Amino acid sequence: MEQKYEPVIGLEVHAQLKTKTKIFCGCSTVFGQEQNTSVCPVCLGLPGTLPVLNEKVVELGVKTGLAFNCHIAGQFKFDRKNYFYPDLPKAYQISQFDKPLCYEGSIEIHVNGEDRKIEIVRAHLEEDAGKLLHDEQNRMSDSCVDYNRTGTPLLEIVSGPDLRSAEEAHAYLSCVKSILKYLEVSDCNMQEGSLRCDANISVRLVGQDKLGVKTEIKNMNSFKAVEKAINYEIKRQIELIENGEKVVQETRLWNADEGKTRSMRSKEEAHDYRYFPEPDLPYMRLDGAFIERLKATLPELPHARFQRFVRDFKLSEYDASVLTAEKDIAEYFETCVSIFSDAKTVSNWVMGDLMKALNEGNKSLSDNLVTPGRLAELLGLVKDQTISLRSAKVVFGEIFLTGKSAKSIVDEKGLVQISDTSALEKIVDDVIKKNPKSVADFKGGQTKAISFLMGQAMKMSQGKANPKLVNEMIKNKLS
Ligand SMILES: [Zn+2]
Repeated sequence: MEQKYEPVIGLEVHAQLKTKTKIFCGCSTVFGQEQNTSVCPVCLGLPGTLPVLNEKVVELGVKTGLAFNCHIAGQFKFDRKNYFYPDLPKAYQISQFDKPLCYEGSIEIHVNGEDRKIEIVRAHLEEDAGKLLHDEQNRMSDSCVDYNRTGTPLLEIVSGPDLRSAEEAHAYLSCVKSILKYLEVSDCNMQEGSLRCDANISVRLVGQDKLGVKTEIKNMNSFKAVEKAINYEIKRQIELIENGEKVVQETRLWNADEGKTRSMRSKEEAHDYRYFPEPDLPYMRLDGAFIERLKATLPELPHARFQRFVRDFKLSEYDASVLTAEKDIAEYFETCVSIFSDAKTVSNWVMGDLMKALNEGNKSLSDNLVTPGRLAELLGLVKDQTISLRSAKVVFGEIFLTGKSAKSIVDEKGLVQISDTSALEKIVDDVIKKNPKSVADFKGGQTKAISFLMGQAMKMSQGKANPKLVNEMIKNKLS
């Protein structure tokens, strides 16, 4: 079945731009304020008010466009998108129709060991709507609207129909999120709605050029939901076609509890919105110097950093992709490597013990007590053989809890590795005496028997024996 049909997917990502105030008025954008307290006559759409464009919104939009390799419009304008809905007090949304701020860009995604170039058709500015709150306990008998979100700045990023599977859609979305976070233009918090995604999906016979009839899926609020909803919709459309039925062009809602999409409304065409230029805002002109100034502030982006990590630190592609997906992890890693230069070891600890501890302790990298300096100090103690790797794991756990330095924990707990040969000799002799069978096995050519003897010696020293020395001593004594 999958061989016969090819899915065609395009994503529309709405990212809330990180500004202090709304796009056309001075109201605060802080999340979680008491309902309808961050509103004013402008964002409530009262008669006689006029919008004033927030310059910061343009700045963040242009930066994002540049990072997505887009052309930046020298001139752009806003348009009214007309529709009626209770969360939209003006009965129109100020958006951009035919002259978006950014257009014709692309990004590279890495999926299944392959680089894929995904077109960015456009990225335009618009204002968000309010939020309807339904009292679901009383069977939706009571509905309220909160206008705090009305007028929050959004950048809508529209991809080309270039994605061919739910997996590619996931990779694309991760990449978009990663870039937005590197740029610090959006906090991309999906739970708070600052990153939202709609998917346009159709299927066609493999080898066919003509696109099939598409549906648009809304209401997906996690990466997992996006992947599941797309897979569900591909399957649903193929089944319809196989049964001789037709796919209807419509907007569908993803229901995460049921794991299904359901029809919401027939899909509107652009002309249904009766777009016309927003008469209350002038045509905007951007001068080249403004764009150049922003270009100069762009940070190194995730893909470039990924390539640098592979090249300069000789990391595997997998390690480099995990370490560069989020800016703060990449920075943590680099700070640590600047103190302790064995990049592979640092990578193992960051991706292993550190990430595990953060997940289990439900902590973020920034509020965790194992600073890059503390981790580097710990790794130094392992390298110069002051402590064993086994002790290092214990010390790591202790730094994570207390924030103390590795050295002070090693002293407190008496974890300094025993490298004194006379002390080790006693342990080794004892182990040999108590395990005649393993000794005989080893002498009989079963070299594996040495691991058991090693284990016994480490146990007897409470993990403090220098394993390299113990290994040498056992071998010497038995040969
Ligand atoms: Zn306002």
